[in-house]
Amino acid sequence: MPLRFQAATDVGKQRTANEDSFLTAPELGLFVVADGMGGQAAGEVASRLAVDAICQFIKLTDEQRDITWPTGYEPSLNHGQNRLRSALMLANQEIYASGAEDAGLRGMGTTAVCALIEGQHADLANVGDSRIYLLDDDGLKQITNDHSWIHEQVKRGVISEDQARSHPYRNVVTRALGATPDVDVDLSGMELQEGNLLLLCTDGLNSMLSDSEISEILQRYRDDLDAAAKALIFEANQKGGEDNITVILLGYSED
Ligand code: CA
Repeated sequence: MPLRFQAATDVGKQRTANEDSFLTAPELGLFVVADGMGGQAAGEVASRLAVDAICQFIKLTDEQRDITWPTGYEPSLNHGQNRLRSALMLANQEIYASGAEDAGLRGMGTTAVCALIEGQHADLANVGDSRIYLLDDDGLKQITNDHSWIHEQVKRGVISEDQARSHPYRNVVTRALGATPDVDVDLSGMELQEGNLLLLCTDGLNSMLSDSEISEILQRYRDDLDAAAKALIFEANQKGGEDNITVILLGYSED
């Protein structure tokens, strides 16, 4: 199998509950990380609903090629990206409807980052401030754009990446599944190369560790994804573990 993978999640050092959810479905080529928000119970519900709804639609479109696309088919996107786009839009609708029905869940939402992998090709989707990173021969780079207020400030040069990690408004997301009746999904695609590593994570990782710290850990353990996942969580907790931490690592090799 050309793809190795490892997932891990941890409540962190400060929170009492873990509102993150993740899914690894290698038979579908699908990997998802979601970070719920809206208060303890609601956050857990939102991230779990997202992961389940996304998986359900990817499974449906894996088994049946000739479905009617409930959210339309965007001709400028490839098939995999259309599957992810619809999956996240349907998840959004489901979470939004559940939040509207139940006072205890009102206002809940969740981030989601997804990788859908077929052979060498990876399609990626993002809503919110969870992240996908690529480690290749040139080092570590973030592939997704954070949909957060703080990212807007960093982009505009108002504050630095370092300041962003401790800023009081660092948790304010500007896009989430379930927050509004409709959602825009960021989509992209890439060809994986020998030795590439993808990291999907919630902000409990990258708010505690800088990109260079994450890069150093991944380089050190790139041949042992289990050790890499454990080390990422250990180091994020060492730095304070202020939030739930979830990581999925995907390693691509041709043999
Ligand atoms: Ca979080």
